Amino acid sequence: MQIAKNHVVSFHYRLTGEDGAVIDSSYEHDEPLRALIGSGNIIPGLEEALIGHAQGDHFDVTVVPDKAYGPRRENTIQRVSKKYFQHPKRLQPGATTILNLRDGGHQAVTVHKVGMTMIDVDTNHPLAGKTLHFAIEIAAVREATAEEQEHHHVHGPDGQTGH
Ligand code: ZN
Repeated sequence: MQIAKNHVVSFHYRLTGEDGAVIDSSYEHDEPLRALIGSGNIIPGLEEALIGHAQGDHFDVTVVPDKAYGPRRENTIQRVSKKYFQHPKRLQPGATTILNLRDGGHQAVTVHKVGMTMIDVDTNHPLAGKTLHFAIEIAAVREATAEEQEHHHVHGPDGQTGH
């Protein structure tokens, strides 16, 4: 079965930056990543690269910032109270962390400066402006269930872990 819109693909990936250092790897997690194609679950450049491939395929893809996390923006340093961080004492400049937003959402940020009660963060996504290299291995492909298509996300390996 070839990967197309409204298919669920399970895949392993190794993500490296332009310097060749590994940024993230699904092999360090227990399971492959799963995505519903056509629902924006993964960055556009990766989704485009997956389409047409099938179970067992191995391939490399390079994704430019416009098809990944976008360009780096200017003037994105914000001063935020430490209470919005999960582990403020562990944070050092350059660290990436998840900020708990007032509306209940989350945002990935990079620590710029740590003060007594406040932390300056760069709200650019940590991968903004970066060209990303993925080594991909397709583990499984199946059609999405009607419920998954309605929810725009994957319900487990067999589509039955609903929520
Ligand atoms: Zn759901």
